[in-house]
Amino acid sequence: KSLGVALVGLGSYSTYQLAPALQDTEYCHLAAVVTGTPEKARTWSSRYNIGEEHIYNYENFDAIKDDEGVDIVYVVLPNSMHAEFTIRAAKAGKHVICEKPMAMSVAECDTMMEACEQAGVKLAVGYRLHSEPFTKEVKRLVRDKTYGKLRYISADAAYISRGNPDQWRLNRELSGGGALMNMGVYSIQSIIYGSGENPISVSAQEFSTRPEYFKQTDETITAQFELPSGAVGQMMTSHNVRANRLYASCDSGWYELDPASTYIPLAGRTSDGPMNFEQESQQKLQMDDFAKHILEGTPNVAPGEMGKRDMVIVEAIYKSIAEGGKTIPLDLGNMGIVKR
Ligand code: NAD
Repeated sequence: KSLGVALVGLGSYSTYQLAPALQDTEYCHLAAVVTGTPEKARTWSSRYNIGEEHIYNYENFDAIKDDEGVDIVYVVLPNSMHAEFTIRAAKAGKHVICEKPMAMSVAECDTMMEACEQAGVKLAVGYRLHSEPFTKEVKRLVRDKTYGKLRYISADAAYISRGNPDQWRLNRELSGGGALMNMGVYSIQSIIYGSGENPISVSAQEFSTRPEYFKQTDETITAQFELPSGAVGQMMTSHNVRANRLYASCDSGWYELDPASTYIPLAGRTSDGPMNFEQESQQKLQMDDFAKHILEGTPNVAPGEMGKRDMVIVEAIYKSIAEGGKTIPLDLGNMGIVKR
């Protein structure tokens, strides 16, 4: 059986990554779209052969409840709309994939998880890397402690933003924050899957060099983490730096992904040499993983709890910055750590 996916929001990620990937998925397929633009509805309908009865807008979206062709709603909207559409999808009885960052706040994550729980539907965050082989190899090296005790891990995720200064990513009301909300969640993710541990404290700093462009949102943030094993973590995220890397140093070797969180191709090496894996669409692997989770009960590799945990860390980083770099304790236990 193949599950039907409805893409909500037909912006660049849906257009250039998700829809093409859904042409290759084995356990799910593109079944419906939700868009505010009638022109896009027409283009998508003819490009992907989607019948009119499977095309929705943001107002009539709730009618998707009666659409038997749709099993999964995939929310690919600006961050401020993630909670609303995740909750509406859950109320319509559909499983949900919500893009990263999961929401604007931890409180929103709670309401989303509650809505999915109440409706008895599954919830995943669009963390595509958990399904791709380079990241899975890092997780295996961590699990097997291949290089002994971890002492230091660093994670950078950043790009230089030069486009329209009015884009939603630079508008706090729509994005909830700048580089940290956009790319920073990848750094946080890298620190955690690259060590296998949730941090127990964080201290952070913010840097701004182009305040005329980044009027409302953070430009560059660095943060230092204390991990329960005693290892030290260091992250950087920015909308004004080109960097994308995970590096971990252990007692008897090291591992590195560079780039670590871009689309394919990724690249990795360890102190023993290069990693060689097939470069398959990450989005295809991710959506098939979630469909298999629903169909066969395989693990949900990026559950809502993981997205919420990352928002707890995001909020702690902003708090630390607001308090002049003060160390903020974190009490996460094993929240969002998926063993696989
Ligand atoms: P985008 O700007 O290209 O698309 C956003 C879509 O939302 C557009 O179709 C737009 O019309 C629609 N929209 C509805 N209401 C809007 C409003 N008030 N303001 C602006 N747009 C509105 O953005 P995108 O790059 O497709 O990102 C969408 C989501 O996907 C974000 O949450 C982003 O973080 C996430 N994303 C994830 C990845 C990944 O690798 N997992 C990659 C890119 C984007």
